[in-house]
Amino acid sequence: MGIKVAKFGGSSLSDAEQFKKVRDILLSDPDRRYVVPSAPGRRFRDDEKVTDLLYRCYRLAHTGQSYSECFSQVVERLCGIASDLGLDLDLLPDLHETEREIARQDNPDYAASRGEYFCGRILASYLNWPFIDAAEVVRFDRQGVFAPEWTNEQLAETLRQHEYAVIPGFYGGMPSGQVKTFSRGGSDITGAIVARAAGADLYENWTDVSGVMMADPRIIDNPRAIDWLTYRELRELSYMGATVLHEDAIFPVRKAGIPTNIRNTNHPEHPGTMISADPNPSGEERTITGIAGHKNFTLISIEKAMMNSELGFGRRVLGVLEDLGISFEHLPTGIDTMCVVVADRELERHRQEIIDRIEDRCHPDSIEFNSGVALIATVGRGMVNKRGTASRLFRALAVADINVRMIDQGSSELNIIVGVDGKDFERAVSAIYYEFV
Ligand code: ASP
Repeated sequence: MGIKVAKFGGSSLSDAEQFKKVRDILLSDPDRRYVVPSAPGRRFRDDEKVTDLLYRCYRLAHTGQSYSECFSQVVERLCGIASDLGLDLDLLPDLHETEREIARQDNPDYAASRGEYFCGRILASYLNWPFIDAAEVVRFDRQGVFAPEWTNEQLAETLRQHEYAVIPGFYGGMPSGQVKTFSRGGSDITGAIVARAAGADLYENWTDVSGVMMADPRIIDNPRAIDWLTYRELRELSYMGATVLHEDAIFPVRKAGIPTNIRNTNHPEHPGTMISADPNPSGEERTITGIAGHKNFTLISIEKAMMNSELGFGRRVLGVLEDLGISFEHLPTGIDTMCVVVADRELERHRQEIIDRIEDRCHPDSIEFNSGVALIATVGRGMVNKRGTASRLFRALAVADINVRMIDQGSSELNIIVGVDGKDFERAVSAIYYEFV
């Protein structure tokens, strides 16, 4: 018998109907042994997530305002689900205690975590599986930093004692017993941590989309889902702006060599996207896997005659940025030119200082700033073996009348990054997508 860890996002647990789908999914495969729920999410467009309601309760309580009306919405959501499922579970005494505790805490983590906590208890009762409180098995140190090894040992030990269990996502506990949360969307991280500790064969991440899309659906109408993706490609895509999995969630499973499967709770028959260290052994190799991008970058172009023979020039330029605490994204260079790509927000206060310091330390012939640039990464492990990928990409951009301001292709050939004017961003993504799909 294998082990699968299934994490369900907030939209998969937004009401009793969704809970039923979750139970059907879990019971249809006995390998699905550990489940990590988020808090109930939105049921309709303008609905509020339970986590958002809880953060609001905390804010109201700590600005001297009444939060009982807000908290009663939390109670209604949670007790409503339990009663719609016909459960014999009285959450009210604990909910009332939670309401009081929110006012006593000096940070919002406890309040925020209660969505996952109560959702986990409801799900455990519905499945008739044991409930393991994450505060006892997911550990943060005294400074509030997640402690991966302690957690892994403790959690592995606890899971060994349970064939099936529900472990709520998003939070853990500090040595003092105080509750601490991950950043928003952090149930993905808990899911990956549990998968690692369980020695799972597969980490399933159930959401409301049928996998990772090849491009942003706000730009491309109904983009194709990626059937198989490597962790390296996922990292490139999410770094470049694709909203897929919580960044930190990739690491525990990737490190442990556990594949991740992104699935759709509303379409459980769809295989979703499989993410693993190696490409699909039997699958056909697509040239490109996906496209992602961001706006708001600045190109700092530095020119100096004979730059290439001047030892330490690049180091001095980057030293200026480092001293000012600015990190750079890309570094395409020419013979006598160097271009440093930096996010606009990093530059805000330092523009003149960068110019002064580079002039002082590097004596360039010119420094030019071009802001409002968008970066687009076309990612695909298949590019290494296919001739003509770059030519297709640039021809598509030229045909769409888009001027390319910068090109960066790492030697790994896992991606080609182009910089275009911010106003051309959407058209460029679309030109590339339709060239390859
Ligand atoms: N409920 C938390 C949030 O809304 C964590 C999660 O859903 O992953 O951010």
